[in-house]
Amino acid sequence: MTGQRALGVDVGGTKILAGVVDREGEVSRQSERPTPVSTQDEFLAAVDEVVEGLLDHDVQAIGFGLCSTIDQQAGRAVSSVHIPLHDVDFRARMSERFNLPVAIDNDGNAAAIAEWKLGAGQGASHIVALTLGTGIGGGIVIDGVVQRGRWGMAGEFGHMVVVPDGRRCECGNRGCWEQYASGNALVRDARALARTNSPTAYQLLETVGGDPDNITGPDVTAAAIQGEPTSVELLADVGTWLGRGIANLAAALDPEVVVIGGGVSAAGDLLLLPAQRAFSRTLTGRGFREEARLVLARFRNDAGLIGAADLARHAMIEPPDSAQFGFWPRRRQRRASKARRRRESLRARAQS
Ligand SMILES: [Zn+2]
Repeated sequence: MTGQRALGVDVGGTKILAGVVDREGEVSRQSERPTPVSTQDEFLAAVDEVVEGLLDHDVQAIGFGLCSTIDQQAGRAVSSVHIPLHDVDFRARMSERFNLPVAIDNDGNAAAIAEWKLGAGQGASHIVALTLGTGIGGGIVIDGVVQRGRWGMAGEFGHMVVVPDGRRCECGNRGCWEQYASGNALVRDARALARTNSPTAYQLLETVGGDPDNITGPDVTAAAIQGEPTSVELLADVGTWLGRGIANLAAALDPEVVVIGGGVSAAGDLLLLPAQRAFSRTLTGRGFREEARLVLARFRNDAGLIGAADLARHAMIEPPDSAQFGFWPRRRQRRASKARRRRESLRARAQS
């Protein structure tokens, strides 16, 4: 089965990103569309359309990374605050519809899998992967095993409270980490500063035609890379909050590598260096312990779809739990168990 490709689909709150991925993580064909968030039917129709547009004879399995709580055992998408998906037998539905093996996972886990197996976390047994976008997506690998938690909720780092009574978050709490260290936080800070009419924001404002509401994350990043001092500062603030939060994660999880991805990571060292400084300054036991390496993601925006495809491909090639997890369509399941029996009998014969 080597060389065959899988389709990876990253379903986020704002867009659906999909691509055909080979075993090295190279994406050959890709498509993208906004995520419909009005009704579940409309949402599922859009996902179907994206998949249909990329399927060909070469695609052997489909993996989905969903911004939803996932019941891995049952293959269900349980609930999501970002997409209209509530208690859906997602894996069975997709597997029946496309007659292919289907794997599903949370999008943060999918991104972590991509960076751990093929990207910036390669070779490490303990990693934490963060995706900075609308919020902060997270994934944990400990001793080479993806940690999903008892109810599929592990890695929701974005909602750790870092500032008691701080900024209001859409989860209902105040002071969540993602209100300070995400792409959205960067944009909100930049716009707020621009609205004060402060001379420090003039240069940044000029680049977007004078309207504070036009400022986007990529605008701030581009200006900072050009050396615009206010944008450099705004990114450093986000980096500082990032480093503090990562120090908390290190206290709990003791990772070897922390991979930082998502749109904001395009800022490179402008984000990474302040994060490293704050991390080293906040880390518990500093000076007396090994420190995790903070590195930029290899895949940035494609990590979710590449990880989802990898999950699908591996489950297809080595499907140890595939029957238990209902990974295969029934027809393929019979074929797989026949092949497995054959392999076992050959192995038994070789050993005797
Ligand atoms: Zn929150």
